[in-house]
Amino acid sequence: MPLTIVEARDLSVAFDGRQVLSGVNFSIRQGDYIGLVGPNGSGKSTLIKCMLGLIRSSHGAISLFGSAPVEMKNRERIGYLPQRMDFFNPRFPTTVTEVISQGLIATRRAGKSSGREEIEKVIELLDLLGLRNRLIGELSGGQQQRVIIARALVNEPDFLILDEPTSALDPEVRESFFELLHELNEKKRATIVLVTHDIGGVGQYATKLMYLDKKVIFFGGFDEFCHSENMASFFGSASQHIICHKH
Ligand code: ADP
Ligand code: MG
Repeated sequence: MPLTIVEARDLSVAFDGRQVLSGVNFSIRQGDYIGLVGPNGSGKSTLIKCMLGLIRSSHGAISLFGSAPVEMKNRERIGYLPQRMDFFNPRFPTTVTEVISQGLIATRRAGKSSGREEIEKVIELLDLLGLRNRLIGELSGGQQQRVIIARALVNEPDFLILDEPTSALDPEVRESFFELLHELNEKKRATIVLVTHDIGGVGQYATKLMYLDKKVIFFGGFDEFCHSENMASFFGSASQHIICHKH
């Protein structure tokens, strides 16, 4: 049985007395590549923040790498792309290359390469060559998001959590982005959780599907999804097969 990366047991979250997640149970194993989908406001970003220890549950428990999510030793193993990037001070004079290099954790790189090669690779992949010396605050929102994706990927983390990353990517960059995720997942056994609106396309890259709507409606492989009578009655059999992409 592969290592457990995240384990949620009867997890519930409420904001101002309103239940946002309720009785959520699942285990994420090393090497899983999960497409996390669900309607707007279904709790996807909240669930991810619970995994990272950024939000506390009101009930139940969640662990990350077998310990409490907030522990610092977990941080360097994770690449996280938040849905909203409201943490950039546009007046702070940091260049694109500097922001990306913040993603390289010194301890992991000690005795290894300088990280320069990794930086070059993500700069090229995310089409940032022409922007590398620009100040981050001068860039458009979409360009900034590409920089933050690059920062999340540069450390080649064990566990990558990406909250709706593709909205800022044009089709060409999107393709190389998905190729890189595939490579990290296949060759480095990175575990990936990708929140996406693209429920029709998610079967092309993810290996598991989690459908969330305050609780886990479905979590499993696409074959299982496809053959589930439960899901057929939930989604309608036409949509079910569009999602599974195989039959
Ligand atoms: P999703 O990412 O699936 O669109 P979210 O997890 O962002 O959903 O939000 C789930 C629900 O929780 C929404 O109704 C949202 O308004 C609410 N919510 C999220 N964060 C907060 C917060 N910090 N305070 C109060 N309500 C919140
Ligand atoms: Mg969200």
